[in-house]
Amino acid sequence: MSSLVDLRRFSLPELESMVAERGLPAFRYRQMARWLYGKAAASIDEMTDLSLDLRTELSRDYEVGGLEVVAERTSQVDRTRKFLFRLQDGRSVESVLMPLGRRYTLCISSQVGCTLDCVFCDTGRMGFLRNLEAWEIVGQVIPLWREIRAERDDKVRTNIVFMGMGEPLHNTDAVIEACRLLTDPLGLHLRPKGITVSTAGGIAGMRKLADSGLGVRLAVSLNATTQEERERLMPKAAKVPLLELVAAARDYAERTNDRATMEYVLMRGVNDRPEDADRLGDLFRGGPFKINLIPYNPGGNGQLERPDREAVDAFARRLYPQAPVVTVRWSMGPDIAAACGQLKTEVERTTPPAA
Ligand code: SAH
Repeated sequence: MSSLVDLRRFSLPELESMVAERGLPAFRYRQMARWLYGKAAASIDEMTDLSLDLRTELSRDYEVGGLEVVAERTSQVDRTRKFLFRLQDGRSVESVLMPLGRRYTLCISSQVGCTLDCVFCDTGRMGFLRNLEAWEIVGQVIPLWREIRAERDDKVRTNIVFMGMGEPLHNTDAVIEACRLLTDPLGLHLRPKGITVSTAGGIAGMRKLADSGLGVRLAVSLNATTQEERERLMPKAAKVPLLELVAAARDYAERTNDRATMEYVLMRGVNDRPEDADRLGDLFRGGPFKINLIPYNPGGNGQLERPDREAVDAFARRLYPQAPVVTVRWSMGPDIAAACGQLKTEVERTTPPAA
């Protein structure tokens, strides 16, 4: 175990105080931040506008670590890439990179496992292990950011979606801190509207996120049009009543001057009937919402099925006159289990095996 302190664990204010405490001028803080985030440097040695003496001095106490990618798979179908990161306590999380033309969408995790245990989601089946810290959330972005930067194409856009493992608004403070670093000009300087936090129903978290003033986008996993149906599919998330959830999403959208996305995982014979489409339309008519239909991706739940393409189209067509912005998200990476709801990692043994 190295005794050096990992610079990637520092928030920007912590980095700034560290520089001040060492008696270094403030511009050194800005230089180091730019190396660490904007340029995703992998070592202190790479920080070439710090003097050699300063680099040597810093290397006595610090290193650039971050999260380690321990496995990577690339889809042969659509070039989607899935990464497995090993955390310092031996646990692991997954994230997924989806390339689409000159746009990258990176789907990251906010917790190891999840407390919610929705019936259609594999992450829930692995249980909840712990929250990620802000630096571990940003740490999933850094290795890819380094690659994307290496392409030196200013037109490449990077979007981040908190749709990997976990419920981001059950880990709101770390998610807000991570978003701050992702959007700060001295951090990764991403557009706030390029970041989407997806929640199954953290109302208090939505308020906190709006209060943060960051202006990131919100998506809400609705998945059902009645309270009873939602309780069946998402028993824990449904503790927040459906109408309160919709009201909170409307509030977030209005405060951020944006539309909130309503995600609706379509499951055959469960929530894909014409009356479901009509109720869904009724819930959102005229509001600041977009509706994103996600055909169910099969996972460990042996009961549920994905509707066929015709059924998905029919549902979208029925909804369309009432809800003007309807999109269908066919998940990517089908051959590498990289689709929505399929992220899970091996559950570690919590008790040592018998001798
Ligand atoms: N906990 C957060 C973020 C993780 S899930 C949330 O619930 O929003 C991200 C999205 O994937 C959610 O909209 C969720 O409903 C969807 N999802 C989960 N399992 C799925 C599956 N098997 N097929 C399709 N979408 C799924």
